[in-house]
Amino acid sequence: MTKNSAATILQEKGIKPSLQRIAIYDFLAHNRIHPTVDDVYVALKKEIPTLSRTTVYNTIQQFQKSGIVQSLGVDETSLRFDINTSPHGHFLCRKCAQVFDFTPSYAGPQQDLADGFTVFEYELSVKGICNQCNTL
Ligand SMILES: [Zn+2]
Ligand SMILES: [Zn+2]
Repeated sequence: MTKNSAATILQEKGIKPSLQRIAIYDFLAHNRIHPTVDDVYVALKKEIPTLSRTTVYNTIQQFQKSGIVQSLGVDETSLRFDINTSPHGHFLCRKCAQVFDFTPSYAGPQQDLADGFTVFEYELSVKGICNQCNTL
């Protein structure tokens, strides 16, 4: 993704595309590791010496409000973010602490609810040991 397309996406959401916001957006778009605020800050600090943790935090909050980013509930020890806002499952490995995406075979809880309930969002969180850790 080029800087221009990140700027366009931010503008479409009514967010002024500052260099810092574009850099944070690009990091999230290119590093599908479900990073924490700290992961983003540490990765971009070299490139943008004026960047602060507060700016990263506030920017991601703003992205979240605009629906560009979702926060994950799977990891109770750190707040992680995902630029993929479509409904999908998250698998947290108890050994290496990586979060993996997966697509549930199941269409979601809407089909289980009584008539008159509408689901806007749901999160499928799974914890276990990943295939890399299982072969160690
Ligand atoms: Zn693992
Ligand atoms: Zn994800």
